[in-house]
Amino acid sequence: MAQQVAEGVYFIQGQDEFIPDSHMYVIGKPDSEDLSLIDAGLMGKGDYKLGSIDSLGIDFTSIKRVVMTHTHLDHIGCLAEILERIPWAELWVHELEARPLESGDDRIVYGMEMFKSMCMTQYNLKPGSFSFQVDRRLNGGEELELGGIRWEVMHIPGHSPGSIALYDRQRKILIPGDVVYADYAIGRFDLHGASGAEHKKSLFRLGEIEVDILLPGHNRIDTNLPPGYIADTAAQWAPYLT
Ligand SMILES: [Zn+2]
Ligand SMILES: [Zn+2]
Repeated sequence: MAQQVAEGVYFIQGQDEFIPDSHMYVIGKPDSEDLSLIDAGLMGKGDYKLGSIDSLGIDFTSIKRVVMTHTHLDHIGCLAEILERIPWAELWVHELEARPLESGDDRIVYGMEMFKSMCMTQYNLKPGSFSFQVDRRLNGGEELELGGIRWEVMHIPGHSPGSIALYDRQRKILIPGDVVYADYAIGRFDLHGASGAEHKKSLFRLGEIEVDILLPGHNRIDTNLPPGYIADTAAQWAPYLT
């Protein structure tokens, strides 16, 4: 399923199995020929995601990069499948997750040892299956002009060390990965490299910006967010985030 959320912002819903499949967003004005994919998804979902992009009438040649909100398995699992079809696409990842990704250190990808062995068996994965060359390392604070739309990069660690959000300040659109979801839910903060205290800080930072359209990594999107929604979510969760 693919739909336009705003001009130059498309939503491709994840197809969860017993492991979730992250949503993918496609950003950029259609005539810009400078489109970006935000996140990939779970192993085996490459054809579904590419088919959904195709159904939007988007020419693959206009896709210039994949930007990862973070590198957990449910977001990066089908990156190789997608890059196989779009090999010219650059990969942009936050510095703190670019380093492990390039060296094949997959602790952040799987999050925990038990999950790793389960997935490797289930999906027949070899060690180091998630080693990628990163073309651009993000740090947070960048102002990107992508496909005719300005996006600010925010580094919001906690769910993972290199989690980022993309923020369109003009239209109040936020793509926060797994840091905050609709319905007052937040991402987990117990995986490798996660930190409850950092997560709390990140939520409060996000609470300071105005957001009308929330496009998270999972579950439903919210195109009519109540004012103060993220600040309220941060306050509700703060006692548990230490
Ligand atoms: Zn995640
Ligand atoms: Zn996720």
